[in-house]
Amino acid sequence: MSQARNYSKKREAVLEAVRSTKCHPGARWIYEQVKPKLPDISLGTVYRNIKVCREEGLLASVGVVNNEERFDGIVEPHQHAICTKCGSIMDVESAAPAGQPSLNGFAVDNRRTVFYGVCAKCSGQKKGFKGFGRLVGRFGKN
Ligand SMILES: [Zn+2]
Ligand SMILES: [Zn+2]
Repeated sequence: MSQARNYSKKREAVLEAVRSTKCHPGARWIYEQVKPKLPDISLGTVYRNIKVCREEGLLASVGVVNNEERFDGIVEPHQHAICTKCGSIMDVESAAPAGQPSLNGFAVDNRRTVFYGVCAKCSGQKKGFKGFGRLVGRFGKN
């Protein structure tokens, strides 16, 4: 009995950590948040609890950014903007209405729109555009 309660306590803590932020964290970030409250929790337990929460529809996966899967406490469909420099993920408010496109009988049960780019913080840090020269160099080499 107490084991079951302990189990749900960890799951609650994981869920709460994801819901407490808008940063769409990865498992390691969640682990860092939960660890002070539940010192006996392991990263593996965090992964397991994320999996269970996803199966129950309490958490959503945003996708893999910089080799780490990121999670969202908001499971209702919404759009994301991902910074390709720092890997931050932001919710995009509104945009196109979520109408059902006609796809020749294809039944859509999930759709995901992701905008990739550079966030305001990253684009403000570096002045001047350095990327183009490198790109030209790469294409010029043949
Ligand atoms: Zn950024
Ligand atoms: Zn989101």
